[in-house]
Amino acid sequence: MAEIENLQKRPLASLSWPLETLVLVQKLLLAMGGLLNMFSWTGHPFVDGGLAALLLYSEKTRPEELTQEDIEKAIKFASELYARKDWSSSYLHALLFPNSGLLMANPSMAKKRTPENIAKNLESLLNEKEDPNAPICEICGRRHSRSKPVYRSEFPLIGSGGVPNYFPSGKEGANICSHCLFLVQFLPLILYRLRRLLLIHTYPPELMLELHREALKDVRLTKLVSSGRGYQRPENFLFTLLTEVTIKTEREELWENASITLYYFTNPNRERPKMMIIHVPSSVTRFVAHAARHDLSGWKRIVAMGWKKGSDEKSSPNEVYLKLLNGESILPYFINVAKRRTNASWDLLSFYCTEVLGLDEKALEFIKEVGDRIVETLKELPDNKLSARVRELERAEKLYQFEAFFVNLEKLRQRLGLKDPLLTFDEFARVLTIYGEDLEISWRTVRNLLLFRIYEKLHDRLAKIEASEEAEFYGAGEEVEE
Ligand SMILES: [Zn+2]
Repeated sequence: MAEIENLQKRPLASLSWPLETLVLVQKLLLAMGGLLNMFSWTGHPFVDGGLAALLLYSEKTRPEELTQEDIEKAIKFASELYARKDWSSSYLHALLFPNSGLLMANPSMAKKRTPENIAKNLESLLNEKEDPNAPICEICGRRHSRSKPVYRSEFPLIGSGGVPNYFPSGKEGANICSHCLFLVQFLPLILYRLRRLLLIHTYPPELMLELHREALKDVRLTKLVSSGRGYQRPENFLFTLLTEVTIKTEREELWENASITLYYFTNPNRERPKMMIIHVPSSVTRFVAHAARHDLSGWKRIVAMGWKKGSDEKSSPNEVYLKLLNGESILPYFINVAKRRTNASWDLLSFYCTEVLGLDEKALEFIKEVGDRIVETLKELPDNKLSARVRELERAEKLYQFEAFFVNLEKLRQRLGLKDPLLTFDEFARVLTIYGEDLEISWRTVRNLLLFRIYEKLHDRLAKIEASEEAEFYGAGEEVEE
């Protein structure tokens, strides 16, 4: 016994014992701790969702930490909910497992539907004997599939039985093992019920636990499926969750290469099933995590610019969220032209440009430097002239107008007697073509970055000028001199 205790402290690989002995020792250790080592992450969203539910319910993080007792308790908890009429008919049968015999959601089973009977079904599924002649499970690849084919009553969205051409094996169902099927039965506990059902599948899987923790908490508290705080749009809910979870979670490495996919679906009894898949680019996840941790108020101001007037945070589309998901630039949202101010720090802007837009760091530094030279020139001007010059850049809608801004500024430098030109010819060419071949995108990107720098340095003065111009305009009724 003492020897086995010592073994637990040493990695098994470091022992020079024959393989069979190692396997035996490992089994013994598992049995001693009551651990199961029965489940693992599969990469399939629904099966992983069920596993996440078991882990969250047991307050564990890794599948190998689950014990027999954890599973028994989870079965009891789920069965009690699934036997309730509100869960059974308007959720399980109506949206997820139509006519399921396993969870007794089939309306004809109403009389026999008790927590004990549902629990019995789940237990016998888990203990089902493996048929060594059956094909390997198409999901986990670790066990033989059930001899009985599995279809959409018990596993969402995989087609109904009796339509063999739907399935790769040509059978009346998919080749899925009893363990994968068992896990899926716990999926209802952690879904968010918005207009449809929302599952957030992630790599690394630990992130999924963080993003679905709230759903299980709601279920424990209210005995109802989580409504995801009443959000009606999955992406709005996701960005809110991401922002909060990143601040709460200490482990920065969770976000580094995180991959997040949203499955927004229904598997209804009568209507056609629906499914929307939203992939969140990992650069976007990294950006949101960085923004939430390092410049939360800046990030909030950027998001605020994405709402249209009269928008509702839970049900209206937000331009910033949609552009981030569609791979479009949100650079214009970093500045507020109407108020002539920046919305975030240069650090966040720089992170966005390099990590998400893929702008070269040196190019960014160069634009920043040009911005500083522009500021150096502009600040020499009297108030009324300064405001007009900045407006020239703000209103540049065509490339020639953008070019004219630089030419005029160069002349101004000479008039003011400032040393050195604003830009050499090479630098000028660089400003215009720095962002690749597409001129339409390139110079607008540079313009936004330059405005950012100008607002950052000159906002206070510009705001004061604006205020006095307004006072003059409304006070004396005179023309404002530009
Ligand atoms: Zn499997």
